Amino acid sequence: QAAEVATPKRTRDIIAKHGFSFKKSLGQNFLIDQNILRKIVDAAELDKTKGALEIGPGIGALTQWLAHSAGKVAAVEIDSRLLPILQEVLGAESNVSIIHGDVLRLDLRQLMEEQFTGMTGISVVANLPYYITTPILMKLLEERLPLDHIVVMIQKEVAERMAAVPGSKAYGSLSVAVQYYTRPELVCTVPHTVFIPQPNVDSSVIKLTLRDRPPVETADEAYFFRVVQAAFAQRRKTLANNLAAWAGKNRREEVVRLIAEAGIDPSRRGETLTLEEFAAVCNVCYRAGV
Ligand code: SAM
Repeated sequence: QAAEVATPKRTRDIIAKHGFSFKKSLGQNFLIDQNILRKIVDAAELDKTKGALEIGPGIGALTQWLAHSAGKVAAVEIDSRLLPILQEVLGAESNVSIIHGDVLRLDLRQLMEEQFTGMTGISVVANLPYYITTPILMKLLEERLPLDHIVVMIQKEVAERMAAVPGSKAYGSLSVAVQYYTRPELVCTVPHTVFIPQPNVDSSVIKLTLRDRPPVETADEAYFFRVVQAAFAQRRKTLANNLAAWAGKNRREEVVRLIAEAGIDPSRRGETLTLEEFAAVCNVCYRAGV
């Protein structure tokens, strides 16, 4: 079995041998702690019948663990300088494919069909590049890719927003969007000392288990998310004021009446509404043509 990549010494050796220099603009912070890797891989519930899609393999620290836990691993890496390193580090792993590309531009549905034939389930497992955490996760969710779980290392503060409950400070449109598609669970928080180089922020591992169907029924999904965005436009304003600003000032009275009709006090703030309450507001407004 090949030596572990995720130790400080081996990581420094690999980097020195290949003359690799980190690009901050690509969010390159490599993991050097095997306990954290074990927690990530355990949370993903993999076995040899499952596929793992990794985003940003770096020098292969997590990829190597995935190769031993999953039936098939496909890893998408944007930085061409890492390809020869991954080739060398993972050369002995016959179930790993490295795909050179930008995850935000790739057709992931097609990639999954090509890479994971015969697998009984697929999960995304990654230590994400932090500068594009939310775009990557929203792409995975909005495209409704056939995924079991998404287990990712992200900024602690973003993980807290995703898992936040109504009425808490961190609860916002990101919480609603993520909880509409998934059940989020915080797996662990991670100190910045387990990376080379160390990022400026603390990190968390979050596990998102995809729902078979959304937890609420909405008249129109895109409209639902527009209502949610509008409700959080100005956090200090009431639901009525935010939705009136969105619908047009001359519809204020109508909006207040519709919110009440949905069974919600118009003077509440958007940040206190559950998904069910947002759906109720969305549906009355949609039917009224707001
Ligand atoms: N998985 C490795 C680890 O845990 O040590 C590296 C994680 S590092 C935080 C993020 C990785 O994502 C880097 O290798 C970076 O080059 C890559 N990356 C950045 N932007 C990307 C993009 N748009 N598409 C694919 N990979 C990207």
